[in-house]
Formats: sequence, C-alpha cells, structure tokens
Amino acid sequence: MFSPLVSTTLLVHCFSLASGHAVELVQDGNACAEIVVPDSSYPVLDFAIQELQYHIERASGTKLPVRKESDPNTYFQNKIFLGLLSSSVKDGIDLSALPPAGYLVCARASRLYLVGRDTSGNVGGDDEPTWHGTLWAVYDFLENELGVRWLWPGRLGEYIPTQKTIRVPPCERHGAPRFQDARLIVPQLSREATFGWADSSNHDRFLKEQDTWLLRHRLVATKSLQYGHTFGDYWARFHKTNPEFFALLPDGNRIPLAGDRDGTNVALCLSQPSLWAQIVADWQEKIKGVSSDSLPPVNVCENDTPGLCTCPSCRAWDSPDPRFDISPYWSQGKIPTFKERFHGKGFGIAGTSTPWGGVVLPEDAPSLSDRYAMFYNAVLQLARGVCPHATVFGYAYANYWEAPKQTHLHEGVIISFVPPLWFPYTTEMSRTFRKNWQGWRHAGAQLVLRPNLMLAGHNLPIFYAKRFAADFSYAAKRGMIGTTFDSLCGAWATQGPTLYTIARIHTHPEWKPAQILDEYYRAFGPAKVAVRRYFEFWEKISNKLTEADVGRFHEEEGGGGFKDYVLIADRICTPEVLTEARRLLQIAQNAAQDNDEAAARAAFLEKGLRNVELTLETLSAYKTYKRRPDESAKKAAQGALEKLMKYRASVEHENICDMGYLAYREMRGAGWKELLTNVDKND
Ligand SMILES: [Zn+2]
Repeated sequence: MFSPLVSTTLLVHCFSLASGHAVELVQDGNACAEIVVPDSSYPVLDFAIQELQYHIERASGTKLPVRKESDPNTYFQNKIFLGLLSSSVKDGIDLSALPPAGYLVCARASRLYLVGRDTSGNVGGDDEPTWHGTLWAVYDFLENELGVRWLWPGRLGEYIPTQKTIRVPPCERHGAPRFQDARLIVPQLSREATFGWADSSNHDRFLKEQDTWLLRHRLVATKSLQYGHTFGDYWARFHKTNPEFFALLPDGNRIPLAGDRDGTNVALCLSQPSLWAQIVADWQEKIKGVSSDSLPPVNVCENDTPGLCTCPSCRAWDSPDPRFDISPYWSQGKIPTFKERFHGKGFGIAGTSTPWGGVVLPEDAPSLSDRYAMFYNAVLQLARGVCPHATVFGYAYANYWEAPKQTHLHEGVIISFVPPLWFPYTTEMSRTFRKNWQGWRHAGAQLVLRPNLMLAGHNLPIFYAKRFAADFSYAAKRGMIGTTFDSLCGAWATQGPTLYTIARIHTHPEWKPAQILDEYYRAFGPAKVAVRRYFEFWEKISNKLTEADVGRFHEEEGGGGFKDYVLIADRICTPEVLTEARRLLQIAQNAAQDNDEAAARAAFLEKGLRNVELTLETLSAYKTYKRRPDESAKKAAQGALEKLMKYRASVEHENICDMGYLAYREMRGAGWKELLTNVDKND
C-alpha cells in the first residue's frame, strides 16, 4: 500500500524517462500516482473518485490514494487531477469552450487530467438533470486506456482487463454527451414492488447496480427531453368555459369518448386559437422565475388518444389522404369507445394498432400529421411572442406518427417520435421507421426517439441487436437529439447482447453492430465463438418470426398485449428450439470451463435459459389446469410455479433478470396469481 510523504520535495518518482511522457499510475501492482481532487466535494465528483479507484484496483490490484488539493501531504509525483483544480487551471486546462457536461482527458508530463463540466445535483439526476462531465471523463478513460466494458449490471458483468502496470501515453481529447437526454426507463413497478423477489435486499441491490450500469453507459439527461401526455386536466378545467377546446366528434358533440370517465384522455380541437393561447398561458405560469438557459419547452403532447376532431378548421389542415374516404369514423360517423380508440380497425381511426398493442401501418387510417404540425407551429409562434427562445415539444404518435406531407415545421419544434418498432423487429418495420423518421426530419423537426420496443419479450432469449443498431445509426445521423426507451425490463441473462447493443450504441452511434457485439462476446474469453453462435441461433429464431405469427399466437392463446410474451412463450421456444439452444450453450460452457471468469459468465447465461425452461413448465401446467380445471391439475400448476419461484430465489442475487417485473407480468397479465397459495395475493 501507499504511505503519505510529508514534503512535496520527497516524491516517489516512478515516472520513467524511457517511457516518453507517459503517466505511470501503477507499476507491477504498486501504486505510483495519487488522485488529487478539489477541496469542496459534490456528488458527481465523489462518485467519479469511487469509480476511478474501483476500476483501477480491479485492473491492477492496487488502490490509488486520494488527497484534497490543499492537503500538503503528497504521496506520489504522478498525479491524476480529477475535477477542476486551481493547479489544473494554472496548467492551462480550460473548460470554457466545452458544451454542457463536456469533458477533457489529457495526459502529459506526470499528470493525467480527468475533468469536465459538472453541476452540483445528484448523480443520475432526479427531477433536474445533472451535468456529469468529470464522471464522463473517467468513463472515457476507463474505456479507452483500460479497455473496461460494462456488459450487464453487477460485478460479473464488468469486463476489466488485468494490468499490473498502467501507463497512460500522452493524449488530449475532448468529449461530450452525444445526446441531450438518453434514457432506458426502468419501470416504476420494478422500483416499487418487491413481489417476485425472495429477498428484498436483492431487489434493492439489483436496481442499484442496474442504475450504475445505466450511468456507466451515460444513459442520463444533460437537459431533460422527457415530456408526456399533458392535457389530462383540460376537460375538468375547461369543459364548461371553453367547450371549443375539445375535439368535435362526428355526432356533433365535443366530449370525451364513452368510457373515458373523467375526460383525462379527451382529444383536442387543435385549430382553436383560444386553445393555443391557454396552452401558452399555462406555460408562462410555469416558467415564472426560470432563467432563459433552462427554459422548458412548451409541452404540446396531446392526451393518450388518437386525433379525432372533425371540425372544418382542423380538417382544412389535413393533407389529402384517400384513407379519409374509406374510414368509417371520418366518412360515416362511427365513434369508437375509449377502449376501442387504438384498436378501431373498423373505425379506421387508429387502425394504427394491432390487437396485441403494437402500431401497424393501417390501410384504412388517415394520417393527421399535417394538422399536428400546423398546431405545433401555431403554438410555437405564440410562445415566441412571449419569449424568443421558446421551443415546443410534441409527439409523432397514434394516427399522427407518419411524417407530414406538406407542412414545414418552424425551427424550434422538437418531435418525440413513437415509431412502430417492437418485437418481432422485421425488415418491413425498419423500412417504414426510416421513411417516416426521414420525413419528420425533412419537415424540419429535431427528433427524440421514443420507442416502446423494449417492453416486449418477457424473459425469452429474443435478439434484435443488429436490426435495431442499424436503424439507430440511421436516425442518429438525421436529427436525433435524444432518446427515451420504454422500458428496461432487465432480462440480462437472455437478452444481454441486445440490451448491451442498445446501451452501447448511444455512445457510439456510428458503430456497426458487429463491433459492439464483439465487445460482448469477447468477455467470454475462450467461449467467445461458442457464445456468439448461441446468440446467433436466437437471432435466427427471432428473425424468422413475423408480426402475423405473433398476432396469431396471441389470438390462439386467448389474447394479451405486446408486454405479455409469457402467454406465447411456448410458441416461440418450442421443445426443439430449447433442445438446440441447450446444446449450443453446453458447447459454450465446455469451452469456458478452464477460465474461471468466462465459466462464470457462461453459467450466468445458463441460469437465464433455465429460468426460461421453468417458466415454460409453469405455463404448460397452467394451460393444462385452465383446460381441465380440477384439483390435481391445479396442484400440478402450483407445483410448477413453486419450483420456478424457488429457482429464481436461488439465482436472484446474480442479476439474471428483473424478478419483480417478470412476476408482475405473470401474476397479473398471465393470470398465474390464482395459483398463489401461501402469499398475500394482494401484494
Ligand atoms: Zn377542430
């Protein structure tokens, strides 16, 4: 270990002239540099210190000492200046030209500078985004100089090459977050509910390690681009005073759809100037006292209902679309109920939805995107009258997700694009995604990618890394300023390569998927090729599936939405498929057996597959019980569920899966709740 030297003149001098100007941090397992930090600490700095020390220790076996800048005791001549020190400023380190959360990695003489633009908020940010520049400098250094990769949450997923000597060659590079806001949303129910976890401390640790993994992939906001459906209170506030705010339905009423009891999802009449004025007035109220630097956009994301207004002014904004003529809603006046609003194939409103919850290209649903684009422009113009820097934030969603045909958006319109991307991720989906992304871009939008893609799949080993990555790269080159992915459901041991790709491509949008996947497979050492083959097998199974297949499976299995893959798990993972997967995984486990770390990682994959097998056994027993609901069938199903839960309890500390999320879907979505015996069914 190290011991402090009391005088700056007595320095441990391990800087070798022979190594040019490289900064030596560790020599043959011994520390030879210290981490110097500013006197006043703040959360991002504290976490950056912890991450830097931790990874260097894991790589080299030694922990570098930390001292405050004003502390006269110094340990080593070689220094990592972490955060902005007054001596760094004297050395010419200047952050003023860097963008928010931008950073610098610079090695020269005996000093390594890791520094960026930080704010004082919490790590990860809560309501207000935090700038993590110094932490990003650390991660950049760990990735590039130390070769560190973060495959999945927890220690086993940390790929940290052993280096008994760490010498940093001269370098100087700047970096900044590629996106203003990039997030894989962790479902709220995963955070709140501990049901499904045998030990709540495993739940807490899983979430903590998952959050750290997200941070290491820089999946946080520098500036928030998170805005949702926003006019939920308008019906309550204005239905008496301003009925003109609300969509004119074909029967002449301006009211919520039948079944939307409190009107929180009422559709609006977008062409009403009095509505725009109210929206801007609400925004003005909200921004009182907010500096122009942190001015939020005017949120114009409509309620969670397709566009419905049939008034002549709204209709005049629509571009010609032959689908208006064939749609019962627009041409014959049939009005869907609230429940039917996304499944109204017969109504053709949002024939934009499949029965299992995805959005398809409707043959019979006209696109209202031009009217929405006109609405966004109108609100922006009004808001700019209040503040010249105003922006508006709106959706491309439901029956207005296709690109507008004739309306150009004013500069300052940000579109949150909710594309028809989900699993199975087909080439047709990819084609329409690109066409409409490019269309919105061409119309002048800055774009936030907000797919519901990651909600599909349950714990099954589905794979869409390559198709997704190619589309992401396409979009990143064309106006993407942020992302919000709904949602990170945590099937780490079965969907690892796809989850890793989704995260990793956020820092390297230009990378080919093969390059990212190679990082993942490389962590399996001697089993690299065999693990790749195992996942390529799942890729083949995944790519063979069509939307029609999945729709048919759901229909035949009694329904369920796109979050309910557990209901059709046996249709995808047939016995033949599972046998072949087992065979391929066994080859990988054999190849890894002489390398402890690789063997542990291959075993991690095996636990994911075992979890799938036991899920399928439970599904099968439950189906038998539903077909023949007698006591013995129920007992058999309960036995299968108990075996599954026991297994999960035995592996839940290893971050195989988000056990709480799985249990929620199985109990509520698949109905397995009725099998519970000795636990609180209301849990
Ligand atoms: Zn209208």
